[in-house]
Amino acid sequence: MKEYADKSLLAVFAHPDDESFGCGGTLAKYAELGCRVHLVTATRGEAGEIAEGVRASKAGLAETREAELRCACAALGIAPPHLLGYIDGQLTIVHQGQAVARLVRLIRELRPQVVLSFGPDGVYGHYDHIAVHRWVTIAIKLAADSSCFPDGNVCQPHQVSKLYYTVLPEDYIDEMDKADGGAFVMMDGVPFPFVGWKREQITTWVDITAQLPAKLAAIRCHATQVGADTSDSLEELLEAAREPFVLAQSSVGEPGEIETDLFERV
Ligand SMILES: [Zn+2]
Repeated sequence: MKEYADKSLLAVFAHPDDESFGCGGTLAKYAELGCRVHLVTATRGEAGEIAEGVRASKAGLAETREAELRCACAALGIAPPHLLGYIDGQLTIVHQGQAVARLVRLIRELRPQVVLSFGPDGVYGHYDHIAVHRWVTIAIKLAADSSCFPDGNVCQPHQVSKLYYTVLPEDYIDEMDKADGGAFVMMDGVPFPFVGWKREQITTWVDITAQLPAKLAAIRCHATQVGADTSDSLEELLEAAREPFVLAQSSVGEPGEIETDLFERV
């Protein structure tokens, strides 16, 4: 393994728990390798449901889910989250310019070579996820442009080397469909199907075998979402010991073959 002490990884997501399911193993892996790993979470997840059997109140859900997120970051061994504090479910109507400017500032401060976020599919079309995807795409471009946001010039422009989407392969969704009879998430009373990516579109697989316990611990932190007694279903979920990504933007060239490290060529 090469040296990661001079490397920085930034993940940007919408809700507490988005970081753990799709790419928790990868975040834990790079933290373990000595890379600085930061997470931005746009909301405190107060619009979420509360799983059966979990003692939590709707009124206090923002505080509860923030605590769950902090628990997950600790379990993954990454820095405490940078919370943007927007209202869950309303990211499409927040001031987009302000949200993008906050991300530009964070990118210039943290100077990540690699950024992870949602693809345009938002995993299952969640409008908060899609809003975050758009902010990140724009913020990466503006962060590198010295003519943007010149006021308060504490931050030097920064060029992110690679942007990755956390994605679901199509065959995972087929399996989910077979196992549970429905690969979708209910939103506003409507089932939103998970969006799959073809195997040949997936550029990168990160082996997280050694980080499965950390990923499992992080997922269990999100008790209001996964429930108190999760042992069976979670173990099953975690059989996959590799996490898939799509390299969406690169200033360091395209992979010749399937990548196994987000920092290849960086
Ligand atoms: Zn989410």
